[in-house]
Amino acid sequence: MIDLILTVNQVVAILYKGFQAAVQEPRLLGTTENSLGLKAWLNSLGHEFVVSDDKEGSNSDFQKHITDAQVLITTPFHPGYLTRDLFERAKNLELCVTAGVGSDHIDLNAAVDHKVQVLEVSGSNVTSVAEHVVMSILLLVRNFVPAHEMIERGDWAVSDIARNAFDLEGKVVGTIGAGRIGYRVLQRLKPFDCKELLYFDYAALPEAAGKAVGARRVEDLKDFVSQCDVVTVNCPLHEGTRGLVNKELLQSFKPGAWLVNTARGAICDKDAVAEALKNGHLRGYAGDVWNVQPAPRDHAWRTMKNPLGGGNGMVPHYSGTTLDAQARYAAGTRSILENYFAGQPQEPQNIIVGVKGYETKAYGQR
Ligand code: NAD
Repeated sequence: MIDLILTVNQVVAILYKGFQAAVQEPRLLGTTENSLGLKAWLNSLGHEFVVSDDKEGSNSDFQKHITDAQVLITTPFHPGYLTRDLFERAKNLELCVTAGVGSDHIDLNAAVDHKVQVLEVSGSNVTSVAEHVVMSILLLVRNFVPAHEMIERGDWAVSDIARNAFDLEGKVVGTIGAGRIGYRVLQRLKPFDCKELLYFDYAALPEAAGKAVGARRVEDLKDFVSQCDVVTVNCPLHEGTRGLVNKELLQSFKPGAWLVNTARGAICDKDAVAEALKNGHLRGYAGDVWNVQPAPRDHAWRTMKNPLGGGNGMVPHYSGTTLDAQARYAAGTRSILENYFAGQPQEPQNIIVGVKGYETKAYGQR
């Protein structure tokens, strides 16, 4: 006789609250209210499913439930920061799933030490972000935000805007990181007839891929930024990229360059960027990622401006959470869980940390 042992897993999800919007728009799947569309399915399998947005401090739902959780689902948009200390307490934890792309809110080295797997839904929102990058480059270079604000104010002074507006054609644009997003940015920029497209990445693009977008690799970071009119950051946050764009590196930027960062806030030094924008060394900074999320109300990046009163293209973290992206990362999260419950192998491209350690080179050369 075979004994049937029904395993009940506790699955904990830390998501952002959608409030009224999530009730009105069920495609807002990444919210606590719509719970990635997983609730009925997980309950039908008999698993316990705890969903909350409460993630900070020892009394938070996140810290209370992590002690029992076998599976943790988080999202980069409202990151539940899984520190080494919390790993020590998460005795039952086997799997962390990032609903989206970017797992730096999890201490990945601690995950390796505790033999906890970390998976992402790789590729799920890379086009969403690449489109946002191209939009941000254009809105900075063309001085769009102050132009629109002027119109809302009821004013009309064309030269106040035009004095700081340029064409992207003929400029040098470079990406730090030429992976899924960085490469898509290069592809989308090709028809803009930039002077040159550059990339900085420790992995060279395959020859045909580099040729297809006409991008040149520059191997020294200072040399790379000194050639760019526009720099876009598209690498993961890890030990080698935290604070990469700091005061010293900014000194190598061309005076009046534009910087777009939709990768992770902590890759750029908050104060150094604010200072460089204020003194005009950077003409503009745009992105959707912040060193702490949600960003405090007084975060310098909310209101920083260049000497002409523009150059700020900051928004909340949403480039990778369009409704199209949410459908993809919700489906991808379910498929990772299905594989896990069935004891099936996971899609290799989704594995950041596997049972034997890091399975990707994207989070640093090791
Ligand atoms: P990817 O793994 O396909 O590509 C990352 C690339 O960065 C790789 O080619 C890797 O070699 C390179 N890289 C790593 N360290 C580097 C370094 N020190 N210098 C230069 N290059 C380096 O990842 P992806 O899908 O392109 O995503 C990149 C990052 O974008 C994610 O890790 C995440 O942080 C961010 N992201 C943001 C959003 C958003 O909504 N804003 C959404 C998705 C991803």
